Amino acid sequence: MTQTMKAFVLHEGRGRFEERPLPKAGPTDVIVRATAVSACSAELACLSGEFPAAEGTVLGHEGVGVVHEVGSLVTEFEVGQRVTTASTTPCGICANCQRGFSGHCRQAVWGGYTFGVSRDGTFAEYFTVPQAGYNVVSIPDKVSDAAALCITDTIASGSTGVEAAQPPLGSVIVVFGQGHIGLGATATARAVGAALVITVKSRPGGEHIAKALGADFSFNLADHDVQAEIRDLTGGLGADVVIEATGARASFPMAVEATREGGVLAVLSAYDGPADAALEIPLAHWGWGIGDKTILSTFQRCGSERMGRLLRLVETGRIDPTPLLTRTYGFGDLPRALADLKARPTGHIKPLITFEPASFQDEFETTQGVEL
Ligand SMILES: [Zn+2]
Ligand SMILES: [Zn+2]
Repeated sequence: MTQTMKAFVLHEGRGRFEERPLPKAGPTDVIVRATAVSACSAELACLSGEFPAAEGTVLGHEGVGVVHEVGSLVTEFEVGQRVTTASTTPCGICANCQRGFSGHCRQAVWGGYTFGVSRDGTFAEYFTVPQAGYNVVSIPDKVSDAAALCITDTIASGSTGVEAAQPPLGSVIVVFGQGHIGLGATATARAVGAALVITVKSRPGGEHIAKALGADFSFNLADHDVQAEIRDLTGGLGADVVIEATGARASFPMAVEATREGGVLAVLSAYDGPADAALEIPLAHWGWGIGDKTILSTFQRCGSERMGRLLRLVETGRIDPTPLLTRTYGFGDLPRALADLKARPTGHIKPLITFEPASFQDEFETTQGVEL
């Protein structure tokens, strides 16, 4: 008899629970029994059609768990081992992957994303990680499932901008945007040697989360003259490194202005807009072309080697990402978790969704097919 599992599947713009056969490992796959998953705006984009997710795909791209089965060519892992993977699961062998930009894997439909887009994702009791030698990483004993879950996307993505900017020791780093990616950058800024971490968001609220993750100052555009505050804190110079993680084009000129001469602006945003829309660089804040400001566009760098380094930051206590997980749900409550994520109440960043046996009870039937 075929064993089945519960999975949360994209169906005509809705997510619904279905019974699916347990996946079988291909030669280079690892099958993971999920112990915790999380979600972010990527799931909402799959449900709205903004991401080109295939009908009938199991949703979800962030997950941790225990190895259930290893493919015949996988030698690095064994059944029972605690593991995770970055939310992007690229091939590891195409030209862009070999160049170190696996977020632009040529084998993936959208960036390096395959989970929940072109292959079944993590919102199931078991999920398949492809190219396990490249993508799967073991979780150190000292690192909780919750902390490892924060690494899969939020820290992996947020840290990419920080790492790519290569801030000098003692830098001032300003992070525009305090959604989960901006918070991921905030959490890793001090780990790369920043002396001062300043966060900027549009409205007040949630400052305690930014500060718990390492921000020294949290400003918002509604209550503060943000550029004046940054000038005051930097002796009039501006920030050594600015991370732009708002996703709003209007924020880009502000980020250019906040960057000092000789500084680096690393963009972590995927901007909305028509194909011919442009980002604005005010001449005065670009030194009329000779300001020696560097602008980088970055996207999540992944792979087991990098994920191992990020997990080590947690293992050794350099970062604690768990303040990102602001609400807890059982797997059967996944539709409510996604609805809460879409509503974005102040102070709610990410859900921790667990697979405790008791949590998967009545909610499964009563929440089935919630529209998002
Ligand atoms: Zn995500
Ligand atoms: Zn690739």
